[in-house]
Amino acid sequence: DFEREIKVLVVGNGGVGKTSMIKRFCKNLFTDEYKKTIGVDFLEKTQYVKSLGEDVKLMLWDTAGQEEFDSITRTYYRGAAAAVLAFSTTDRQSFEAISQWKRKVEAECGSIPMALVQNKVDLLDQAVVTKAEAEALANKTGLKFYRMCVKKGLNVGEVFEYLTELAVNR
Ligand code: GDP
Repeated sequence: DFEREIKVLVVGNGGVGKTSMIKRFCKNLFTDEYKKTIGVDFLEKTQYVKSLGEDVKLMLWDTAGQEEFDSITRTYYRGAAAAVLAFSTTDRQSFEAISQWKRKVEAECGSIPMALVQNKVDLLDQAVVTKAEAEALANKTGLKFYRMCVKKGLNVGEVFEYLTELAVNR
């Protein structure tokens, strides 16, 4: 029978853990290998939505480092209902790029639900972004802020549950 489909974007600089996040969420797998995927791809996951009392099908889209090609970007962003804006604990540039990623999503999709995610919190001893800076960015952008560890599977499901609830109830 009919299942609602929701497209969710995961955006952020290369290396922040986008592919890993999607794989962890959809297949509960993690590898330490850095493998560059070619082209745009997505994985699916059925998610139960409490407020609806039913399942929806999430389609998680991964840009796989093709962000610089505008034609690909358009296809990638088209019809998205929510977005994860991700940066890495150990990559200052990825943190500073968040506002640009937010603007890019808004330019292509309008004001869809988004969440701010700091990934790799297992590497806090190597952090190049302070807790106060991350929280200030969350306040400034008005986004709910999650600290995530894709490697250990910490807070991954929570972010997608939050975004799904917002996306189906707007
Ligand atoms: P993408 O370019 O944003 O898609 O990033 P990837 O998913 O390819 O991840 C880049 C690298 O970071 C890979 O070597 C991953 O194994 C690693 N990685 C992803 N998430 C975590 C995490 O939570 N902790 C640690 N330590 N490494 C991670």
